[in-house]
Amino acid sequence: MNYSGWKNYHAHIDKGFLIPPNSYQDEPAPIRAEWTRNAKVLLSKEEIKVAASLALEKMHKYGTTYVRTHVDVDPLFELRAVEALLEVQQEWKDRLVLDLVAFNQEGFERFPETEVLLREAIKMGVNGVGGHTSMDQDGKEHIDKIIGIAEEGNLDWIEFHTDETGRADDFNLPYLAKVTTERELKHKVTAIHCCSLANVDDKVALDTIEAVAKSGMTVTTCPTAIATRSLTRVKELAKAGVPIQLGSDNLRDYFNPLGSGNMLQYGQLLAYVSRFYELKEIEQIISWLNAEPENERVKQQLSQLAIHLSYPIKTNTDLLAEAPAPQLIEAVR
Ligand SMILES: [Zn+2]
Repeated sequence: MNYSGWKNYHAHIDKGFLIPPNSYQDEPAPIRAEWTRNAKVLLSKEEIKVAASLALEKMHKYGTTYVRTHVDVDPLFELRAVEALLEVQQEWKDRLVLDLVAFNQEGFERFPETEVLLREAIKMGVNGVGGHTSMDQDGKEHIDKIIGIAEEGNLDWIEFHTDETGRADDFNLPYLAKVTTERELKHKVTAIHCCSLANVDDKVALDTIEAVAKSGMTVTTCPTAIATRSLTRVKELAKAGVPIQLGSDNLRDYFNPLGSGNMLQYGQLLAYVSRFYELKEIEQIISWLNAEPENERVKQQLSQLAIHLSYPIKTNTDLLAEAPAPQLIEAVR
């Protein structure tokens, strides 16, 4: 079987592959978040580049041709990670398309200076801006602020870690859908995770899914999130016509000590958790892993890669069951 390349729609390659003497310990999330903040202060641009390249090597080996990674921008990392990743983007441009989303991981309340730094990151040439709806007291205000900053630049992507806590009282997806519709932002906006949607009442969920579908936004699910919370209602979102994307999320850091970068493996995990077992459902997951973003620049860059994947395998079921590494065939241009 032949494919053009898998797409990893959400990662954090700026802070993965912990460097010694750092290692994962299974403490509560706020403690691990604190360790991450401490590490970010110390990580040099060169160390960030090494870590990011280690992640990309894994992803490339398993046939990934498009990676959209968040890059933390705050007074801890300052703009070192953006500088590092812009160089990595260039170094890898013949093997994969790397889109960078300048990310406010820590919230505006903890670090108000982040607003200025995000504007700097836009000037430096990132492809998008990202926020986190659970990081500030008022998730709606956070959404407005991020969209305001993003609209000052001519950006391809506006993304939110959305309702990642999974708590029914932490539910900003309806507001994000409303703003996306009003401002006609469509597929520029991606809601990542949407865990709370799994835990609100069915009627509320149904109305929200309709609003999300009407807005034209995309939803990215990261199956490894199941370690700590529910995955979103992937099947219902897809049935309503919402474009679904998959991401690896964190690899080998204080949030996830594992992570192969093999998109078929993440697809397989989604299949297990959400029971995509029928052939047409398995094929649906494969089609999501394969789908290019709705963006002419990215489509053009992908067409320049001239990489093809070949698998000595006969069916999509075998592909998702075994998640093998492909033979990478790089056509001579
Ligand atoms: Zn994430």
